[in-house]
Amino acid sequence: MIDGFGRNIHYLRFSITPNCDLHCRYCKSKDRFQKDSLSADDIFKITKAASSLGIDKVRLTGGEPLLRADIIEIISKIKTLEGIEEICLTTNGQRLFDLARDLKEAGVDRVNISLDTLDPLRYKKLTGGDLERVLKGIERARVYFETIKLNVVYLNGITDKEVADLITFCKDRDLILRFIELMPIGEALKYKDLSKDPESDLLGHDIIKTDRVDGVSTMYKTADGQNIGLIRAMSHSFCKDCDRIRITADGKLKTCLFADKEYDLLGKDEKAIMEIIKAGIGVKPLSKETVVLTKRSMDQIGG
Ligand code: SAM
Repeated sequence: MIDGFGRNIHYLRFSITPNCDLHCRYCKSKDRFQKDSLSADDIFKITKAASSLGIDKVRLTGGEPLLRADIIEIISKIKTLEGIEEICLTTNGQRLFDLARDLKEAGVDRVNISLDTLDPLRYKKLTGGDLERVLKGIERARVYFETIKLNVVYLNGITDKEVADLITFCKDRDLILRFIELMPIGEALKYKDLSKDPESDLLGHDIIKTDRVDGVSTMYKTADGQNIGLIRAMSHSFCKDCDRIRITADGKLKTCLFADKEYDLLGKDEKAIMEIIKAGIGVKPLSKETVVLTKRSMDQIGG
């Protein structure tokens, strides 16, 4: 569907649970386990309505999507939708070792794994989780998935020390490395001093900018050919090319990550959902500079 500013909206990012087994400091807003608001049928119904309006790519995120006991059922149902050409997943990797094969068989095309540090103690401090589990998850995912992106939230004064190690890690495993600028929203407002455009640090590591752009990533390259993507939603606006909508884990449509404007889809039938999505896309904001900032943290939005 084309929005009011001529952008082709074809990508749905769906947060299917508010729960997460990690506590990334800049991300997680709630520690209490909550009952999922959306059933597998709700997720299917909303995705079906969106696909009727031209959505052809879906990313399942959260919270941690692999915490849902019915994750395979959710993916299998979405896979039956003719209009959906690509199903992607964003995960912290903690449960990937056990699930990678089933995810592939159910229909996941691509996986992004979030990993901010290769230092076990730093990982524990930042996320509360076990680094070894992610590393095992990555190895298992490599067996089943051709394209795996490693998402690293770039933290000012911290990540720079690990740039070389992260590059080697990704090169050795044929992973696509991406550095994401920290977005100071919700919980991350407390850490806004850690938000930094990583470019100057990268150039110090003999990394050069290419003229390639991959979706929202500007592509860089090491001397020996490792590709690195930078996602800089704060220092560089890419709103003019925005092609996506989001559904939160409590069933709200967000047409802009940064905006507090949301549209409730919970309990609505497919036709009503289509109307709401159509209306929302029709008035999708031009840029993050034009909106009232959301109070939500990223664990509720899905990234
Ligand atoms: N649990 C899954 C995971 O860890 O990948 C999916 C949800 S998580 C919210 C999705 C992505 O958002 C992760 O890569 C995470 O690091 C990133 N993220 C969380 N808060 C962020 C923030 N304030 N700015 C930028 N990225 C953030």
